[in-house]
Amino acid sequence: MDPISPFILSLPKAELHLHLEGTLTPQTVSELSRKHNTPLPVGNSRYKADERSGNFLSVADVERLYQYKDFVGFLQAFKSIADRLRTPEDYELITYRMMQQLHADGVLHAEVYISAGILHWRGEEFEPFVAGAERGRITGERDFGVSVLWIIDAVRHFGVEEAQRVVETAISLREKYPTIIGIGIGGDESKGPAEQFRRTYAFAKQHGLHLLAHAGESVGPESIWAAINIGAERIGHGLNAGQDPDLVDMLAERQIPIEVCISSNIRTGCCRKLDEHPVKKMFDAGLMVTLNSDDPPMFGTSLAREYQIARDAFGFTDDQLRELARNSFEASFLPAERKMHFFSICDTK
Ligand SMILES: [Zn+2]
Repeated sequence: MDPISPFILSLPKAELHLHLEGTLTPQTVSELSRKHNTPLPVGNSRYKADERSGNFLSVADVERLYQYKDFVGFLQAFKSIADRLRTPEDYELITYRMMQQLHADGVLHAEVYISAGILHWRGEEFEPFVAGAERGRITGERDFGVSVLWIIDAVRHFGVEEAQRVVETAISLREKYPTIIGIGIGGDESKGPAEQFRRTYAFAKQHGLHLLAHAGESVGPESIWAAINIGAERIGHGLNAGQDPDLVDMLAERQIPIEVCISSNIRTGCCRKLDEHPVKKMFDAGLMVTLNSDDPPMFGTSLAREYQIARDAFGFTDDQLRELARNSFEASFLPAERKMHFFSICDTK
């Protein structure tokens, strides 16, 4: 891969769409697999050869696990990684390593999803894991100067009741952990349309949580309308917005931030080819575009790499990249004075 330009690395950036469980490098997954002696997925013939040599995922196994052909395959790989996160100490470790990587990419602030849905589904209490992540965050902030806020994610295809439970958990933990600032719905959009979550979102809002939603990633623009109708303040992906000109006009007029994740869309097959990705069209149409990495090692990317792709494949100029970086702070949930501070550093680059 081409090196990343020094300008991009030094440009102050915020990362607004990143899943903690998706930030594990193959080395870290392999390390955790060894630590917990995790059995390999049952009935998955791709792992037979390695099963004979022991019940661990080697780095090469994880690299294979990170190759998938479609969105469902990606969700399965994501679940398989999350299954290897067993203890609060694991969450502490991966948060710290995530912040180390963010720092290397020139990221100063990140708003990061933690999937409560997956932990609930396993029958785990969520709080000890949040406490672990918080320990990692505090050490990471001290060592790398990166700030992190948390978005608690429900898995939409687990249903409304489960999402309500996730929101109630987020509300109850917020007092103790004020870095919890919002809730989101990720997972399979086709199996969990946003309108189902209207009451849950209204309830979360009443309790002061910000509302996020993945939308228009694997299904069409109607999913983005639905996300906005239930109060989503930013749109995760928004890949298919361009299919509906009225939607594009509304997104531009209201300046609803779009968390664009180019490499993710290509690797999950949600977008067939890089040159078909609408990021530049969205930007030229006046949408508030931000660039994000989603699950960076799972997609062979990093936030700085996404800026480099925007430049190399879509012709974004340095001034336009700076505008994307400014957008990332503008669209964040930071207080106004912190945003102003970050704008002023962007402007000096
Ligand atoms: Zn995502």
